[in-house]
Amino acid sequence: MPVLFLGHGSPMNAILDNVYRRSWQALGCRFDGQATGGHFPVPQLIICVSAHWLTHGWAITGMAKPRTIHDFGGFPQELFNQQYPAPGSPEASLDIASQLGIAVDHDQWGLDHGAWSVLKPMFPEANIPVVQLSLNWDAPPAAHYEFGKKLGYLRDLGVLIVGSGQLVHNLRLMDRSASSLLPVDSWAQEFDDFVAGHIAAGSLDQLANFQELGQVAKLAHPTYEHYLPLLYAAGASDERDTPESFNTEIIAKNMALRSIIWKVT
Ligand code: ZN
Repeated sequence: MPVLFLGHGSPMNAILDNVYRRSWQALGCRFDGQATGGHFPVPQLIICVSAHWLTHGWAITGMAKPRTIHDFGGFPQELFNQQYPAPGSPEASLDIASQLGIAVDHDQWGLDHGAWSVLKPMFPEANIPVVQLSLNWDAPPAAHYEFGKKLGYLRDLGVLIVGSGQLVHNLRLMDRSASSLLPVDSWAQEFDDFVAGHIAAGSLDQLANFQELGQVAKLAHPTYEHYLPLLYAAGASDERDTPESFNTEIIAKNMALRSIIWKVT
C-alpha cells in the first residue's frame, strides 16, 4: 500500500469542483485493486493523521460509527450538511493501539474535516473503514517522524496511511483575493523547496528539523500542527518507495498544498 500526505487547504475544497477536489477524486480512482501501473489495492482500512486532532499522548479512534465533525466556522450551510458515514473498526483500533502502546478513544473524536474533506472525494462510497490517529502535542517533531516509522508495518496489512495537513499554513498572511497571478512569498517558496528537496533526496529524517529554517519556518507555520502529518507519512515510507508530488502550485501568495504519494514501484 502506498503512503499519502495530502494538503487539504480550505474546508470548502470538500465540495467545490476545483483542482484539489478533482485531484483527490482522481487519486481515489487509482485504488481499484489493479496494483500495477500507478494503481493500488483497495485499502482494507484507512488510518488518517489529521492536523485537527491534538491530544496529550497519542490516541486512535475506536468507535464503530465515527461521527462527522464540522470543526470550522463561517462557512455555508452546505458544508455543515456534509456527512461521511464510513465505519470505524473497533477491532483494528484495539490491535493497533496495543501494537503501538497508545490510548483508544471511544467517544471524544470521530472524523474531523482534515480527514473527511479529502476522503469523501477519494472514496465517496464511504465503505472502507476509517480510523483517526491523533497528534501528540507534547512530542517534539522528531518523535512524530519516529512514530510514523512505527506505523509502517500497517502497509503490508492493506492499511492506507494518510497524513492530512498543509505544507505552508499561515492563515493570517495568506491572500484571499483568489488571484493566482500574485507573486509567491519568498519564505513560502523556501519552505516548500526545503521539503521538496529532502523528499527528492530521500533525506526524510531531515524534515523533522524544519525549525532550523528559523524565521522562514515560523512564517510557514506559526503553529505547526499542519506540518506534522507530513512527518508521519514520511516516516511510514521506506527505501522501496518512490515519491510522487502533486498540487505543487503555491496559491494565495503562500498557501502550499504540495501533496505526496510514496509508492512501491
Ligand atoms: Zn486544516
